[in-house]
Amino acid sequence: MSAGVVIAGGGLAGQRCAETLRREGYTGPITIVGAEGHLPYDRPPLSKAFLAGELERESLSLRPAGWHAEQGIELRLGDPVAAVDVEGQRLVLASGAELPYMQLVAATGSRARTLPALDGLANVQTLRDLPDAECLRAALVPGAHLAVIGAGLIGQEIAATAKKLGAQVTLVEAAPLPLERALHPDLAQWLVDLQREEGVDVRLGITSQAPETADGRLTALPLSDGSRLTPDVVLVAIGVIPNREWLGDDAQAVLARPEILAVGDLAGGDHWELAVHQGRAAARTILGAPLAPTPFTGWWSDVHGVRLQGFGDPAGADAIELDGDPGERSFSAVALRDGRPVAALAVGRPREVPRLKALFTATPD
Ligand SMILES: Cc1cc2nc3c(=O)[nH]c(=O)nc-3n(C[C@H](O)[C@H](O)[C@H](O)COP(=O)(O)OP(=O)(O)OC[C@H]3O[C@@H](n4cnc5c(N)ncnc54)[C@H](O)[C@@H]3O)c2cc1C
Repeated sequence: MSAGVVIAGGGLAGQRCAETLRREGYTGPITIVGAEGHLPYDRPPLSKAFLAGELERESLSLRPAGWHAEQGIELRLGDPVAAVDVEGQRLVLASGAELPYMQLVAATGSRARTLPALDGLANVQTLRDLPDAECLRAALVPGAHLAVIGAGLIGQEIAATAKKLGAQVTLVEAAPLPLERALHPDLAQWLVDLQREEGVDVRLGITSQAPETADGRLTALPLSDGSRLTPDVVLVAIGVIPNREWLGDDAQAVLARPEILAVGDLAGGDHWELAVHQGRAAARTILGAPLAPTPFTGWWSDVHGVRLQGFGDPAGADAIELDGDPGERSFSAVALRDGRPVAALAVGRPREVPRLKALFTATPD
């Protein structure tokens, strides 16, 4: 079997790498190895339109059925990579199959972190993949009580979607304000107010305690302020862990090898735009083509029908400039440190995004 490019991980970054290779003239073998049984698909809708029941699973696929075969890209789905033999330049899959490579792209993404005290309880889950979203969607019947632990972007989105589906939602966050790394405190407070206006019960500076259980289910969740929730379902959204185990004990050394490239969430990103850019950049590196300059990437989120688009890191910001009316859910904000923009947010104003991005790209280092 000829080796060619093997992409470990059939998600966004891996898919973008494969299609860029073909589009830019690579004619050798390409194989995508995916742990999941599905065609590569897009995750952002899992906490938004798909969870809300507004999209069918087929529409999540990044490319339609048959596209990979047409492009001569082999898909090996449902058989995760178990290990890499770097000296022998081959992957070992969970089934025991071996796959040689000339170039390896590590694109296995990340998984949701769990709370060990809640692990294994039937009505406690995380949201990372399609089956997770289907399971949560089935539980979110009108009147159901959902407790979301963690008010990061995914927790915020799930709380909003669940509310739209008629659930009663409590959003519990350990920090005094959510999204510390992404939002200036004034903007984080605005988001908390938005959730509360929409009827989400937001509890800040609170942690969950040991659960009460019966028959393998959580029956009550005591909180650190002495209160107690009795949710039907608990969604844990407290961050992600990169899927690096298959790289062995010294993942750093493996990823430093010239024939191995790491992309997407596995490589430390946690946003869509960065995964796309890195997938494409890996393909160009393999082709020896000039690399496009690294774009200034950011994140987006949809919460209660409002589009949020953010960039930069607001740490240490000492001023904030607002344009528009936060009360109307349509404004932009630039956080400044010593007069220089360090972070920006567009709320309900997608057309402002190029102008906001330009503030950063035009700023000398
Ligand atoms: C619910 C949700 C909502 C999101 N919403 C937004 C958003 O609104 N905006 C935004 O910017 N970003 C969002 N993101 C983040 C974005 O989806 C990710 O940054 C992006 O998917 C990363 O792409 P990736 O290819 O690195 O990883 P993934 O898309 O996770 O793909 C990795 C693939 O590798 C597979 N895999 C894992 N281990 C192995 C193994 N050992 N062998 C083979 N395959 C393996 C996984 O099953 C997965 O299919 C969201 C993420 C989630 C989960």
